[in-house]
Amino acid sequence: MLVAEDDPANLVMMRAMFERLGCRVDTVTNGEDAARAALASRYTLVCMDVTMPGMAGDEAVRLIRCKERQALGGVVTPIIALSGHAHAEAREALFAAGVDDYITKPVRRETLEELLRRYIDLSA
Ligand SMILES: [Mg+2]
Repeated sequence: MLVAEDDPANLVMMRAMFERLGCRVDTVTNGEDAARAALASRYTLVCMDVTMPGMAGDEAVRLIRCKERQALGGVVTPIIALSGHAHAEAREALFAAGVDDYITKPVRRETLEELLRRYIDLSA
């Protein structure tokens, strides 16, 4: 899976959480790299921080969805947005951008695990 997160401490924590669940993790720290990586590889899942320097997470999601639509027989990668904001308005904007799910920070391991089970077979 791919984790896009600009906060080093959060990135380390997320990677550790995912690896403990048996996932292989690639990491990037901005939206440009996230979009490039997500479009270049077929990730099972992308976790996207919303607030990042340069291209923000929601922008990266829009770009990924746009390119996916253009690709013939395009595969749609599940994207989970991570945000410090829990406002309904912010959430709606993210779903409009094309995210599949949304979790607020701080991320709890149980929340993450529950969410992952919807997209990944963790027993594999
Ligand atoms: Mg951030």
